[in-house]
Parts: sequence; structure tokens; C-alpha cells
Amino acid sequence: MPDLPGTGRFRRGSRTDSSIAVVSELNLILVGPPGAGKGTQAERLTEDFNLPYYATGNILRAAVAEGTELGRQAKEHMDAGRLVPDELIVGVILEALKTEEAADGFLLDGFPRNVSQADALGAALDGVGRRLTAVLLIDVSDDEVVRRLSGRRTCTKAGHTYHVEFDPPKHEGVCDQDGSKLVQRDDDKPETIRNRLRVYHEQTEPLVEYYEQRDLLRRFDGSRTPTEVHDHVRATIATLRLEDEL
Ligand SMILES: [Zn+2]
Repeated sequence: MPDLPGTGRFRRGSRTDSSIAVVSELNLILVGPPGAGKGTQAERLTEDFNLPYYATGNILRAAVAEGTELGRQAKEHMDAGRLVPDELIVGVILEALKTEEAADGFLLDGFPRNVSQADALGAALDGVGRRLTAVLLIDVSDDEVVRRLSGRRTCTKAGHTYHVEFDPPKHEGVCDQDGSKLVQRDDDKPETIRNRLRVYHEQTEPLVEYYEQRDLLRRFDGSRTPTEVHDHVRATIATLRLEDEL
């Protein structure tokens, strides 16, 4: 890939926060159950540390849209209703990591989901001379996830969303914006959420152990407010970076 001075380089050089002026790579993975608030944390962290955020689904779709070789291969699997093979996903991730914006690190979400994917990613990173800095686990109890997700209500007319506890409509069961009826979608029903959580635990627990054994796992209490979680994650990352420089 040609070097492009004045684009990524300029942005990297324009940092003003002196605490992040000396850079070691921050190669991070974000893990957590649905409803843990990963999206919110990712948004804040990518801003704090000027990292690109790679949600696997998004970079796969981007590769497909750009019509890269890997994207074309991935599309064949998607069109056929098959899972995209791990090695293809790893390939797409590696392509993203080669870009200038990822030179100092990245925040990866949605991959790996199991131990064999973790092995594949680790080997691929080794191959390009990089290694993970940490795996950030935002931990939330199943009951709390169910409480957060099952409170969601959706308007039948335009899909406006509310939460019975955190963002209730003015009148129960009625959309503020168009007066239509609010319903609980099947996806938001407790039994559906519990099923998703069961799958999550089956896949993630071995992964958590895998990264714990490699001393990469950092746990955060996702039952705290988003700001508290963010403060904790940010402080932890700052410490990791210091350790890395010693
Ligand atoms: Zn509505």
C-alpha cells in the first residue's frame, strides 16, 4: 500500500493530549454480553485513544461493498446463507490492521467468539509482528441483561423505541411521536434474551479463560453507570500503556 503523508499521519501527529503523546500500540478486544453497553464504551474509547473501532460485521460488510478479493469471497458465503469462515474473517481483520489508522492500535469487537478463532487471530497477529495488549470484558449478570433488554418497547408504526424503566413514553403503551401502539418485539422477550445469553456463555467462558491464562483479560463491572465503566476502562488502559513502556 502506498504511503499517504498528510492523511493518517497528520491526524496522528495532531494529538494534543500529552498523556498519549508517547505511543505504544493498543491492540484491544472488547467482549461482553448483549446489553452490556459495549457500543457506548467503544465510542468513548475510540475517542479517548484515537483508535479505529472494528466491529467484525461492519468491516466484513465494508470489504464486501468495496469488492476486495476477500470481500468477494465473504459475499459468496453470505449469499449462500453460510457462515463466513474464520480464516476469511481474520484476513479481513488483517487488511484493516494494515491501514494507517490502525498503526497505533485498534479496538476489535465481535471476533473472536471462541477459542479456535482466538488461536487464529493470535497466529495472524504474530505473523504481522503485533500482539494483543488486552481483552476488555464488560461483565453484566444475566438478570441485569434481561432487565435492560426486556424493557424495550417498539412502536408499531415507525419503530420508535422506548424503555419501560429508562426511557418510558409519556403514556404507557403509546408512542409519544405518533400515538401508535408500543409492543415488545420477540427479540426483546425474556426467553429470547436468555437463549442468547446461554449461547454467549457457552462460547465466551472458554474464551475468557483462554485470555485469562495469557494474562490479557481485564474485567469491568458493567452493572455500573456507563461513565463509571468508562473511567475504569480508561484508567486501566492508561496503566497498561505505562507498563508497556517500561
Ligand atoms: Zn412511533
